[in-house]
Amino acid sequence: MCGRHDSQGNPVVEIVPGLNLCSDCIDLINAARNTDAASRKQNKKSSGKEDSLTVPKPKEIKEFLDQYVIGQDEAKKYLSVAVYNHYKRVGQKDDGDDVDIEKSNVVLVGPTGTGKTLLAKSIARLLDVPFAIVDATVLTEAGYVGEDVESLLTRLLQACDYDVEKAEKGIVFIDEIDKIARKSDNPSITRDVSGEGVQQGLLKLLEGSVVLVPPQGGRKHPEQKMIAVDTKNILFICGGAFDGIERKIAARLNTHIVGYGHDEKQRKQQRENLMKYVMPSDLKSFGLIPEIIGRLPVLTSLDPLDRDALRRILVEPKNAITRQYKKLFAVDGVELVFDDSALDAIVDKAIEYKLGARGLRSIVETVMVDAMFNIPSTDEKKFVVTGDYVIERLEKAHFAKAEMN
Ligand code: ADP
Repeated sequence: MCGRHDSQGNPVVEIVPGLNLCSDCIDLINAARNTDAASRKQNKKSSGKEDSLTVPKPKEIKEFLDQYVIGQDEAKKYLSVAVYNHYKRVGQKDDGDDVDIEKSNVVLVGPTGTGKTLLAKSIARLLDVPFAIVDATVLTEAGYVGEDVESLLTRLLQACDYDVEKAEKGIVFIDEIDKIARKSDNPSITRDVSGEGVQQGLLKLLEGSVVLVPPQGGRKHPEQKMIAVDTKNILFICGGAFDGIERKIAARLNTHIVGYGHDEKQRKQQRENLMKYVMPSDLKSFGLIPEIIGRLPVLTSLDPLDRDALRRILVEPKNAITRQYKKLFAVDGVELVFDDSALDAIVDKAIEYKLGARGLRSIVETVMVDAMFNIPSTDEKKFVVTGDYVIERLEKAHFAKAEMN
């Protein structure tokens, strides 16, 4: 290869007909191969988030979640342990002892807007794995108008540019799982295409099997080539409000929800307290089939957000709404300040609108739109939002909307 001959003191070997290597060339090739292998190993180490050893400990997972999600300590704890175990399971080697760690899919029960999706999203952010949010309400039994259950995985594939290997270690958040509860105890009355049939379909995904996934989703592209995805190592986190489950819990605990004679506050408190005692059997009474419940072994509840929590949500999380607006204004060189009365007024309105934390964003948006429109064209360097300003802006906005109607 280098053009030198045997006679020049270098023994030459014929590797394949026509390719002759001297001992110097062979040494060179070996050296190149070794450095290549070493650098590949190094790369794998530094990018090896899926390596089970690099998954943070449950306490660290919870600390990370604390930066984004306010309160919900119980749910955070359950979720941290479930995720930690899940990735231990993904990384487990077959050591021949027949102990198979089973999958720990999670179900989060709690009122809407209390942070279920946010928790799942934050976990995905921490682990840097593909993540997809899907709404269970769009799913129907195969053959009916709606989406097939497999479309859950289409979203996951899309989230990682169709890298099947990555998708197989991803997280899917299924929202509104309570909406696919069986509608009645008597399945023969009408066909329940968005209830039990979907649950049967989901079962297949939850328990871990190889599923053929349409890459574009839907059924409009019958010609598309299916992609085989193994769901064995995909973590499913389900969320649902399970409205009215308190009654099932109360029935099980043999207590009664206080009737209309009692004041609203007392009833509300009782409902909130009952939610903490949710058990798998309550999900069954609610209309989930036992097989599904069996595949969602981690069950935990989220607390409704009170005043204090809503106020903290406005300022504390790493990407809290007020922080986002401060950043927006800072780009224009303006310091934005929300004073205490402004925060109180925003929280008051959120409670009044009964939108939970979801309402905070739209309220702040409405309050700030005028300032965002005007400030960039002035040379003000500081803008202070007060309680009076919040109330005035909201009243104006509603007035304008009422006039338009
Ligand atoms: P859901 O429980 O209905 O899934 P989400 O997680 O989607 O509610 O919450 C909606 C929004 O409200 C989130 O994007 C987030 O900004 C805010 N939010 C809700 N709960 C919390 C919480 N506990 N901590 C911080 N922000 C929250």
